[in-house]
Amino acid sequence: MTAARTPDQADWQIVVGLEVHVQLLTNSKLFSPAPSSYGDRANENVDVVDVALPGSLPVPNAAAVDMALALGLALGCTVRRHSVFARKHYFYPDLPKGYQISQFDAPILEGGAVPVDGRLVPLTRIHLEEDAGKSLHAEGEDASFLDYNRAGTPLLEVVSEPALAGADEAERYFRALRRLVMALGICDGNLAEGSMRADANVSVRRPGAALGQRVELKNLNSPRFLALAVEHEARRQVAELSAGRAIVQQTRQWDADRGESRVLRTKEDAEDYRYFEDPDLPPLVVTEAQIARVRAALPELPDAKRDRFVQALGLSAEDAAVLTSEREIAALFEGALAVHGNARALANWVKNEVLAVVNARGLEPSTVAQVVSAPALGALVQLLDEGAISGKTAKDVFAELASGRGTDPVRIVDGRGWRLQRDDAALARTVGDVIAANAADWQKLVGGKDKLLGFFVGAVMKKSGGTVDPKTVSRLLQEALAKARG
Ligand code: ADP
Ligand code: MG
Repeated sequence: MTAARTPDQADWQIVVGLEVHVQLLTNSKLFSPAPSSYGDRANENVDVVDVALPGSLPVPNAAAVDMALALGLALGCTVRRHSVFARKHYFYPDLPKGYQISQFDAPILEGGAVPVDGRLVPLTRIHLEEDAGKSLHAEGEDASFLDYNRAGTPLLEVVSEPALAGADEAERYFRALRRLVMALGICDGNLAEGSMRADANVSVRRPGAALGQRVELKNLNSPRFLALAVEHEARRQVAELSAGRAIVQQTRQWDADRGESRVLRTKEDAEDYRYFEDPDLPPLVVTEAQIARVRAALPELPDAKRDRFVQALGLSAEDAAVLTSEREIAALFEGALAVHGNARALANWVKNEVLAVVNARGLEPSTVAQVVSAPALGALVQLLDEGAISGKTAKDVFAELASGRGTDPVRIVDGRGWRLQRDDAALARTVGDVIAANAADWQKLVGGKDKLLGFFVGAVMKKSGGTVDPKTVSRLLQEALAKARG
């Protein structure tokens, strides 16, 4: 008997191609010296170039080009030595020039692939372009407002082949790309501020058939929304086709609140934008020396770091994956490791203690350094490994650090008198005192009542004010017992 199939979805393949816009962390805009910072007063960061005032001329931002090269080298793209800036024309109030400067048939980067959990998702191209401004539609007001601060800020558009197999893979691709650009330091990855926005092209087809007609979903600003939108769109297309209707090429807007999409516009093609080479900008030339310089400055990427944590530090694949899931988590771990070289212990502390606090407080994993600093974590585990504090005290010290009641474990330990007593002679005297004070019980223990050992350990701990290592106390008692039993 064959398993029952859901009537439609199982007979269809979903195909997704993504265009992800990555906002670059440059100080100034792509073609003007205006700041490209986020959140400033409206229209404060607008240069004559951004609004194409007569006589103004664009000058490419070298830092943005370096960032493009960094991403291209990390993803194995081919670097075009002469790429071309083109004007893409359309009318919209947030586009003051009447065109966007982008790259069309000669982008700076081609090919390459994004590694997504071990699978390589092929890229078509990555190009540089400028962002548009923002239209603000104020609630209850019969007007729209325009903020051109974002106009001209640098973006990389990362275009994948139609090679993603559905919502889940699209979501993981977005996350992998985000981790990567953050690790490279070329984008802050801030989804709430729109630092990464995806357009999803979705089609469905029968297995083995040619690609189906695609629909483009605009401006998905988180991996989660991307997955929801793709899922919904694939279902919509399957329903249309199953009902005998054709898919119409269109651009749709995802409404996250309603969980549905609506049509923005139908069919637009490249010719509609009247692309032509920007006459104000010469071809962008990339030299071998520039590529070599950017390559030499590339940081270790998350996948390489994960492999190194397993191979060189002996961590489990699972721990290494957690520690490299966010740049800040890896930085905390590596910073602590520089202070104290016990990788496995530190991995456990980060995973079981630090991330537990982050979760309990409902914080983003990237905020780990707010819970504890790298030097403090290293010093704490060092105190524990040296036997200066007990495991229980280590947890108490961590709680102090995590709640901001101190930043230096050594000062916390000494300030609270939590350091374990290392003076064995003094401890031996205390053991002798406790035995003398409980002579009858001691004789029973010597006589074979082993259960009483715990009582003596506890009594010695209590008499020393809890500042001794229970393991040492136990050892001293065992020695005394062996002597007494002859
Ligand atoms: P445009 O620039 O007009 O949006 P492109 O042809 O450059 O169009 O394609 C943009 C994106 O659409 C790419 O990511 C590509 O992989 C994807 N794509 C193209 N055809 C399909 C299809 N049939 N199904 C899904 N995605 C597609
Ligand atoms: Mg597109």
